[in-house]
Formats: sequence, C-alpha cells, structure tokens
Amino acid sequence: LFGYVGIEAVLDQMRIKTMKTGFEFNIMVVGQSGLGKSTMVNTLFKSKVSRKSSCPGYEERIPKTVQLLSVTHVIEEKGVKMKLTVTDTPGFGDQINNQNCWEPILEYINDQYERYLREEILINRKRKIPDTRVHACVYFVPPTGHWLRPLDLEFMRRLNKITNVVPVIAKADTLTLEERAEFKQRIQKDLKAHGIHVYPQEDFDNDADDRLLNDKIREKIPFAVVGADKEHQVNGKKVLGRKTKWGIIEVENPAHCEFPLLRDLLIRSHLQDLKDITHNVHYEQYRVYRLHESNP
Ligand code: GDP
Ligand code: MG
Repeated sequence: LFGYVGIEAVLDQMRIKTMKTGFEFNIMVVGQSGLGKSTMVNTLFKSKVSRKSSCPGYEERIPKTVQLLSVTHVIEEKGVKMKLTVTDTPGFGDQINNQNCWEPILEYINDQYERYLREEILINRKRKIPDTRVHACVYFVPPTGHWLRPLDLEFMRRLNKITNVVPVIAKADTLTLEERAEFKQRIQKDLKAHGIHVYPQEDFDNDADDRLLNDKIREKIPFAVVGADKEHQVNGKKVLGRKTKWGIIEVENPAHCEFPLLRDLLIRSHLQDLKDITHNVHYEQYRVYRLHESNP
C-alpha cells in the first residue's frame, strides 16, 4: 500500500524528547520499623544505578504529623535525566494497637493523586505536571520464615488497591537459602489465597511476551533482599555489603541476595510499566472516583 514511510523515526523523536525533559520516578518503602527500610533507601542510591550520578541529592522534609521523608537524586546517564525520589516512611508496629497504622501511608499516596488531579483540571495547566505519585511501593515482610501476619496481609491488601506493591523479604541474610525459598512460596500462596495480586499483576500483561517475562518475575516475588550502606574491599574492588564474622554479604551480588533483581525490576526493566500502570489504572481510578464525587 505504501512504500517505506519511515515511521520508526518517531523513536528518535521520543528519545530526544525524553532527554530534553527528563522524567520522574517515585518509590516508597513501607513496613514495620527495624526491617531495614532506611538502609534500603541508601542501598538503592548507592548501588550501581546512581554511582554515576552527577548531582548531589537534596533532602526535603514533609512536615506533617507523620514523618515521611523523601530523598531525591537526579541521575543522568547518556544525556537522559531521571529524577528519582524515594520516600521513607516511619515504621509501624511499635504500638500495641496497630489498628489503622496504614492510614498515613494511604493518605500520602492519595494526596499525591489529588495534587496531580488539581493541576490537571486547571484551565491553564502546566505543560508538564510535576509528578509526585508513588509508582512503586516496596513492602517489607519480616523474615520470620513462617506465614504472612494478618497485619501484613491487611496492609498489602489496602495498598494494592491504590498503588503497585512490590513485596520483599527483609533482612534475608537472617534466613538460610532453603528458608528463603520456602518462605517465598508460602508468601506467594498466602497472597493468592487472599486475592492480593501484587505487581506485576497478571491482568495487566499486554501480550504473550509480557506474560512470559512477568511469569518469571512472579515466581521470584517477593525478592529476598539485603540492604547495606557501607562499602568494603573485596578482591581489590569496592562492594556494597554487610560485614559479618563469616565474610561480607555483597548486596549487589546475585549469588548473595536478590537486591539486584529488585533494583533491575524497579529502575531498569519495568520502570515505564510501573509509570503507565500508575497513570492508567491507579490514578485513573482515583480520578473517576473524585470527579463522580464532585458531580454526582
Ligand atoms: P527501618 O526501621 O526499617 O528503617 O530499619 P533501618 O534501616 O533503620 O535498619 C534497622 C537495623 O537493621 C539497622 O541496624 C540496620 O543496620 C539493620 N539492617 C538493615 N538492613 C539489614 C539487612 O538486610 N540485614 C541485616 N541483618 N540487618 C539489616
Ligand atoms: Mg527507618
């Protein structure tokens, strides 16, 4: 019908556009206190993703009754700028009564949708709306090796309705390899039994290729992670790890833990997908609900 049209030039245009404008990506860490959330924020920033980062990060405090703390680094690679923000949350579970401990977290996530919505419905809206919406919420499961606790199930069930939840087994170095594997299977079963479909959700696989790739990830979720913010010398190389009596647990070594899988999922292989689902599914749901509410 047509000769060669050359529509693939659009790819270059998209590239150039992304390079000019950059993009934002926001991660949140959630879970009981003491599970290594703050350490993981540092691990993410210190690991390979951002070692090349050119700008030092700045910190921004969100003054509220809940002390959520967001750290942003601008990471630039080959001319592409990513503004990566990780929001650390205070741990819950210190109180005897943990009822509604999810509320400040859910409220924060919804507040970011609300902010975006308000910008979007302005008559003179910005060409590029600042995006503080949480694209991925990393949920820390305590390394008990037994079952998911009712609190974790309830928290994830609620989070899962409004954002992409990526559960991880915290402090995996405290479990043996067999314990990790067994615990992982129990968690997968538990989540399924409770109808909690964490990211990547089967419903959102676009095609057979997607399904194949995501099935592999679903088998490995929750990733058994270890966090560290100190560097050590191993064979003359600097590695990020935890020093123990028996040696150094290297967090970026796939033979030692699954932190590299978590990082790659979030920041490499599924970044755009996480952003798309946030915008097209979670934000859309919020938007429809809010606009119905104001125009019944
Ligand atoms: P948060 O309360 O969830 O933010 O936990 P922190 O990041 O403050 O960590 C609590 C303690 O656990 C600190 O002493 C950390 O050094 C330690 N920790 C953090 N990550 C790990 C891990 O992966 N394995 C082990 N064994 N300890 C960890
Ligand atoms: Mg902390």
